[in-house]
Amino acid sequence: MSTFVQQKNSQPAPQGVREAILAKPGFGDYFTDHMSHVRYTKDQGWHAHTVKPYGPLVLDPAAAVFHYAQEIFEGMKAYRHADGSVWTFRPTKNAERMNKSAARLALPEISAEDFVGSLRALVELDEAWVATPKDAADEVSLYLRPFMIASEKFLGVRASHEADYYVIASPAGPYFAGGIKPVDIWLSKDLKRAGTGGTGFAKCGGNYAASLQAGNQAAEKGCQQVMFTDAKESKYLEELGGMNLMLVTKDNELITPSVSETILDGVTRRSLLELAPSIGLTPVERDIEVAEWRERAAAGEIVEAFACGTAAVITPIGRLVSDDFTIEQSTEPGEAAMKLRSTLLDIQYGRAEGPEGWMVKLA
Ligand SMILES: *Cc1c(COP(=O)(O)O)cnc(C)c1O
Repeated sequence: MSTFVQQKNSQPAPQGVREAILAKPGFGDYFTDHMSHVRYTKDQGWHAHTVKPYGPLVLDPAAAVFHYAQEIFEGMKAYRHADGSVWTFRPTKNAERMNKSAARLALPEISAEDFVGSLRALVELDEAWVATPKDAADEVSLYLRPFMIASEKFLGVRASHEADYYVIASPAGPYFAGGIKPVDIWLSKDLKRAGTGGTGFAKCGGNYAASLQAGNQAAEKGCQQVMFTDAKESKYLEELGGMNLMLVTKDNELITPSVSETILDGVTRRSLLELAPSIGLTPVERDIEVAEWRERAAAGEIVEAFACGTAAVITPIGRLVSDDFTIEQSTEPGEAAMKLRSTLLDIQYGRAEGPEGWMVKLA
């Protein structure tokens, strides 16, 4: 494993400024004093591991990322535990996924050691940016955003021979300031985010770009998120733009679409499925038709719906709205969703023991 050379920021945010930000961080609005960086060239492989001052990148306008969208990213969080130590959640899952994304986008793979090392190197220098929760309801964390871009200056169409990997960090407050409220979701039938053989399973910026127009349509319909269906028949539920979908039945099944070429393998999704039995839920991964949700919700058999992902953990779904019908799911967060949420958060914040190896110490 390579060591990250420290180049300390000579002008870090003054303590007062940092504390004001940590008191009201929002999400993704502020960034810490440093960033990790590793450089890749075809000849040298990954090299020049550094943690350096956070700041603008200098890139050639012909860099491949600007033209052919060769870019991938990850998202995870650092949590402060009661004894002052700082931890992250299942980072090797993110490292594995980043390499699956890298393979699909023809970017170089990075070792799990370098991946976890880049997080540790950054959090070591920016530890003061990891807020201490006041109580169990105070969901403060430091959001970590590793990403990789194709940086070769070259307009021909082929995989870049140069890449840069960075990690930036942004303090995050509770996603739902003012309490958890179910959100309304727009069912996108005409616009799709992923198709068979495409990049749906990869965490790449291009998938998000492809989801934004549907997001605008959702907003026009008064919805906060988009539910995507399969590209071929618009018959099966897939996922939201950046979160996986879960349904709970009245006989305590936790159902979610199986991961596939078009559905991203969420670490939150996987972890909730693994935790489900401990709170009396049976995890089920299979195809789910839109019609099944519609019919079984109306019959009182599907009693809860929620979306899950690192940023918001669990987001209860109030209604699924489409141009010809609406599923009225719930006006309040469901019992199973809230139980799963607190079970996961208790592990992440070190208030409960999780399965072996889930929490990894960063500082
Ligand atoms: C990141 C992401 C998720 C959630 O994954 P987590 O690992 O749980 O954060 C779900 N869907 C898409 C498309 C994503 O990009």
